[in-house]
Amino acid sequence: MGEEGVQASNSKYSHSGGEERLESPSAKKLTDIGIRRIFSSEHDIFRESVRKFFQEEVIPYHAEWEKAGEVSRELWEKAGKQGLLAVNIAELHGGIGGDFYSAAVVWEEQAYSNCTGPGFSLHSDIVMPYIVNYGSEEQIKHFIPQMTSGKYIGAIAMTEPGAGSDLQGVRTNAKKDGSDWILNGSKVFITNGWLSDVVLVVAVTNREAHSPAHGISLFLVESGMKGFIKGQKLQKMGLKAQDTAELFFEDVRLPASSLLGEENKGFYYLMQELPQERLLIAELAVSASEFMFEETRNYVKERKVFGKTVAHMQTVQHKLAELKTHICVTRAFVDSCLQLHEKKRLDSATASMAKYWASDLQNRVAYDCVQLHGGWGYMWEYPIAKAYVDARVQPIYGGTNEIMKELIARDIVHDK
Ligand SMILES: Cc1cc2nc3c(=O)[nH]c(=O)nc-3n(C[C@H](O)[C@H](O)[C@H](O)COP(=O)(O)OP(=O)(O)OC[C@H]3O[C@@H](n4cnc5c(N)ncnc54)[C@H](O)[C@@H]3O)c2cc1C
Repeated sequence: MGEEGVQASNSKYSHSGGEERLESPSAKKLTDIGIRRIFSSEHDIFRESVRKFFQEEVIPYHAEWEKAGEVSRELWEKAGKQGLLAVNIAELHGGIGGDFYSAAVVWEEQAYSNCTGPGFSLHSDIVMPYIVNYGSEEQIKHFIPQMTSGKYIGAIAMTEPGAGSDLQGVRTNAKKDGSDWILNGSKVFITNGWLSDVVLVVAVTNREAHSPAHGISLFLVESGMKGFIKGQKLQKMGLKAQDTAELFFEDVRLPASSLLGEENKGFYYLMQELPQERLLIAELAVSASEFMFEETRNYVKERKVFGKTVAHMQTVQHKLAELKTHICVTRAFVDSCLQLHEKKRLDSATASMAKYWASDLQNRVAYDCVQLHGGWGYMWEYPIAKAYVDARVQPIYGGTNEIMKELIARDIVHDK
């Protein structure tokens, strides 16, 4: 558990009274604490502490971080102390040992804070599982406790200037030199790339493999290694406070212990872990939609036009009814995916459906909510403007929504 925070829950021991909890459509607000049957009262207590953390430690500083293009390292260490990193990584490995739903609480609360700067979920729930699931005892011991404390920041580097959707086009390569590896190549659009202390790098290790997928390996590359160069922080349309960077590898000598798992098994590991990444994006998308809905509901109830509030107009009421219905239906599906994933039963196509559907919805909700704010919705000082630009990347990263449809379609048309 974090030194200062309220402990993440472990649902095996704490689920009680789930039947009495309201579901989102019946709750007073979509962002209320104490709702949804997938959670327990222990999750609610944890959620309160996470909400407080984002309100006190993130929201007041976010505008400053947007200008800087990165959040402070101090924030990472504060999150570590509070027990908000590695929530769903077993204590045995140096994580917090909370259940999967507790990790989801942190994702949701960050979305509700409308602060996309801290790359906590990528660090804790995308990068760390690779190390725990495929790493050696030595790698787990070296990286996990430092990542749980926020002293070490993790990133994952798959995408290259010439290879995004088609990962089999990766050119970054590692060649054997005795027992060492020599890594060459470059990566682009890497979240947490600028602040990263450890980067999980996808590289080709066998060009002669019968398919490119069989010749890919994963390496743990540490900041400060000779030849590992961080390029510029990239200027983005949104996610202004999140550091996204280019990374270059010029004859980086890696010891044998940098290889994660087995040689040439990288593609297989990626296929195993990508559904969690897609579920995470879906979860962030529906949570951001819930935030935008509540923000807009408040606005239209206050704003006066023609002597009445905007909310008084029937067309506005119908729009709000549509938005709430779409968000709540999506929430029900994403909650069911969270449940399936908690039981290790979420398949790749279902995770892809959640990612595609929820991130598309998020963008439709963002469009409508800005519209309901009028000109003020276009002003940066209004949270809805930030939510609108931050939404745009969600159908793009983690596999574009076109790729999601490919993955969903495969299951439809191919006989199993
Ligand atoms: C802010 C941000 C953060 C990111 N963070 C990371 C990170 O941390 N680590 C990382 O490795 N990557 C990261 N990415 C990269 C991201 O995953 C890729 O941008 C994404 O996978 C798309 O690849 P691409 O940009 O090369 O587009 P392309 O692959 O060039 O795609 C261009 C267009 O073609 C379409 N297309 C491609 N193939 C098909 C097909 N078979 N059928 C139909 N349409 C197709 C795509 O959907 C898209 O519309 C990030 C990107 C952004 C913008």
